Amino acid sequence: MQTLRINVAGLLKETTGGARDHSIGASALSVAAMVPDARPSGALTGTVRLLRSPRSIFARVRAGTEVILDCSRCLEDAVAGIEVEFDAEYFPSIDVVTGSALKVPDDDMAFVIDHNHELDLAEPIRQELVVAAPMHPLCSAECAGLCVSCGHNLNEGQCACSEEVTDGRLAQLRDLLGRNGSA
Ligand SMILES: [Zn+2]
Ligand SMILES: [Zn+2]
Repeated sequence: MQTLRINVAGLLKETTGGARDHSIGASALSVAAMVPDARPSGALTGTVRLLRSPRSIFARVRAGTEVILDCSRCLEDAVAGIEVEFDAEYFPSIDVVTGSALKVPDDDMAFVIDHNHELDLAEPIRQELVVAAPMHPLCSAECAGLCVSCGHNLNEGQCACSEEVTDGRLAQLRDLLGRNGSA
């Protein structure tokens, strides 16, 4: 269900202001491949509005998806929803009427409509997903994280370290009380 490539031959033949709306989609697997360290969770779904400009086609994309990342506190699965909304500009590499080659701007932000008059939204979507993915994903807002001493997942309960700390404090308190008592 990868529908990120769209044939725009018809729109290229139209005058400035021509527009088309399309549904877009990508499988959970292909989304996970776009986001560093992500595992598949949900498909990407969304819409794109294509607008003919004098020299190009503007793609206005709105899409949402879901991936599984490592929780930044406990390293367990953290499901992260990602929404993106952006514009990308696509330049034809070939004149749709005459078939002659066209010069495409030498610019990182300029995407190219290929010789089959297809534009591919995968690359700008990948770039936007990478930026929009959470820097510090959490399995839950209340994630207790890992014990810094032994690495135990504190969401599963306390570890022996915390008991030792508590025991140590109690022992000190008992010592104090004992000293006071004997004084
Ligand atoms: Zn966590
Ligand atoms: Zn511990």
